[in-house]
Amino acid sequence: MRTAIYPGSFDPLTNGHLDVIQRAARLFDRVIVAVAENEGKHPLFTKGERVTLVNKAVARLSNVKVDSFNGLLVDYVAERKAQAIVRGLRAVSDFEFEFQLALMNRKLDENIETIFMMPKDTYTFLSSRIVKEIARLGGDVSAFVPVHVRTALLKKLKPTS
Ligand code: ADP
Repeated sequence: MRTAIYPGSFDPLTNGHLDVIQRAARLFDRVIVAVAENEGKHPLFTKGERVTLVNKAVARLSNVKVDSFNGLLVDYVAERKAQAIVRGLRAVSDFEFEFQLALMNRKLDENIETIFMMPKDTYTFLSSRIVKEIARLGGDVSAFVPVHVRTALLKKLKPTS
C-alpha cells in the first residue's frame, strides 16, 4: 500500500490543488490531503472549514482522504505510515522554498521522499492568496475554484452590516 501525504494550508482549496490531488491519486494507492492548522498564517477559513471544503471537492476520488494535522509534518507522515510527501510546483519562484523544505524533511526523516507535481499550465498562476484577493475585491473566481469554494468565499467575505 503506497500512501502519499499532500500537506498544505488549503485556505481555500483551488483548482490547482485539485489538479495536483488528481495526479497524485493516479500514482499512489492512497492520498491523504493533510490540512495544516497554520495559525501563524492567520487563515481566512478555520481548519474545520478548510477540511470540509477539500472533502467536498474530493468526494468522488475513492482513494483520496482528508485529514488535518498540527506539529511536525515528518511525524505526521510516519504516524500515517506514508512513504511520500507530495508538493506542487508552479514556477521557479516556488522552487527555492520547496527545495529547502524537502531537504530539511529528508534530514529529519530520511525514509520519506518528497515528490513534486506540476499542475496543468492554466493553473500555474493560481494561489489561494490571489484567489482571496480577487474575491475580496469583488472579482469572479469561478474559473479558479470549485463552485462550493466560491460560495464559501462569497459568504465569508460578505460585508456584515
Ligand atoms: P502551504 O502553506 O503549505 O504552501 P498551500 O495550500 O498554499 O499551502 O499549498 C500547498 C501545496 O500546493 C504547496 O506545495 C504549493 O506549492 C502547492 N500549490 C498551491 N497552489 C498550486 C497550484 N495552483 N498548482 C500547483 N500546486 C499548487
